[in-house]
Amino acid sequence: MILVFLGPPGAGKGTQAQRLEKLYGYRQISTGDLLRRHRRDQTPLGQQAQSYMDRGDLVPDNLIIEMMEGELEGVSDVILDGFPRTTAQAQALDAMLRAKSKSVPGALLFSIDDDELMERLTGRWIHPGSNRVYHERFAKPKNAGFDDVTGEPLIQRPDDMPETVANRIAVYHKETAPLVDYYDEPSSRRLISVDASAPADDVAKEIDQKLRHFANASGAA
Ligand code: ADP
Ligand code: AMP
Repeated sequence: MILVFLGPPGAGKGTQAQRLEKLYGYRQISTGDLLRRHRRDQTPLGQQAQSYMDRGDLVPDNLIIEMMEGELEGVSDVILDGFPRTTAQAQALDAMLRAKSKSVPGALLFSIDDDELMERLTGRWIHPGSNRVYHERFAKPKNAGFDDVTGEPLIQRPDDMPETVANRIAVYHKETAPLVDYYDEPSSRRLISVDASAPADDVAKEIDQKLRHFANASGAA
């Protein structure tokens, strides 16, 4: 099954994708994590993406689509976390999957009001080696500032600063929110929605329930 995680920055997509990866063997493909790796390795793509990411704007569609064509080779149970983010990317994804005779993806919408996102993102800490996600109030590490598994230091993302967060939320509404209608189109019924403002454990329960239902209804494993 190919699942698209749709929702604003800070809605909890990465948190839930990592949980599903650990529990059920899905593979999380996060375009944000991939791009940050390209930047760290100073690849041409990383250099091209840098200024867009620093402003909180979207990286141009052609660069993202080309990157994802490689990533989707030979995958089966995948969570696409942060892709597609524009209608052009969604159409390209459908075309790529059709060409590989794969089924259309289901989309899971993380529903949440904007006013909760700022606190989630400005309090987020990550372990750069594994991309494990923490929060200084809602998902505290055992030792403040350090990863539970490796004991290595956690960092805050530069684009989680308040000014950039505000732009990322605006960009979400302009460029990505239209995908809700794209995936909710009556002939395909690909959209499932969860209440992402609930505590993470409750979101997890709702996702598990709805995914089971979706998998049964669509005949997917
Ligand atoms: P996204 O991948 O959608 O940008 P994350 O999964 O990184 O979002 O979550 C953003 C921040 O909010 C992280 O610090 C995470 O620990 C925290 N978080 C995730 N889910 C919840 C939740 N349901 N309630 C409170 N905080 C959450
Ligand atoms: P994320 O880690 O998902 O919050 O993404 C961080 C940044 O990477 C975004 O603000 C964008 O600049 C860029 N990015 C990630 N995914 C995409 C995408 N699908 N399309 C365009 N830009 C993206």
